[in-house]
Amino acid sequence: MEPLFLKIIYGFSILASLIIRRPHERRNKTNKIVDDQKTTLEKVLLFLVFIGMMILPMLYVFTGVLNFANYALPLVFQLLGVLMMVLFAWLFYRSHKDLGQNWSVSLEIRDEHTLVSSGVYSKIRHPMYTAIWFWVIGQSLLLHNYVAGLSGIFAFGLMYMLRVGPEEKMMEAAFGEEYLAYKAKTGRLFPKF
Ligand code: SAH
Repeated sequence: MEPLFLKIIYGFSILASLIIRRPHERRNKTNKIVDDQKTTLEKVLLFLVFIGMMILPMLYVFTGVLNFANYALPLVFQLLGVLMMVLFAWLFYRSHKDLGQNWSVSLEIRDEHTLVSSGVYSKIRHPMYTAIWFWVIGQSLLLHNYVAGLSGIFAFGLMYMLRVGPEEKMMEAAFGEEYLAYKAKTGRLFPKF
């Protein structure tokens, strides 16, 4: 496929993520937060993810400054990239819908927070992160550039590694035995078999 076509598909993924997230951002803005774990590290990681998944890809799509690092991939990988983005959009939508008012961009517990264990959360504890893994893998298969294609994997990978442990600890502190029982029957990123 033409690189331009692949770039357009990536652009649609960015658009889809913004459209899916927007109503939740709006509604949850008024949440009363009782445990806020938005540390400086967390803010830095969120900024890195923004650079890795949005800014560098846009630099590659709209300018030629990263062209020195271009590579090419066969069609089958490109198609796999499209599939990754479809899976991303579906799971990103579903996980936002299931978390509802409990969703937040950073680690926090709101007043009246409930433990969601239904829908996609019935089998997986972090389906939104699974969705974002689909995205960053898709990014490397659609954007054929060592910088803009791989920056998502590095930025989100780092954030995932440093965030998922503290997030589970925070949930355990908030929900105790209920969370431990939930944890025992679910997988982190994929269903437990
Ligand atoms: N890690 C989850 C959610 C990401 S959004 C996922 O990948 O799907 C981050 C916020 O979601 C956290 O601040 C936490 O308060 C909330 N959260 C995470 N898991 C939850 C659950 N099972 N039920 C309710 N809230 C949850």
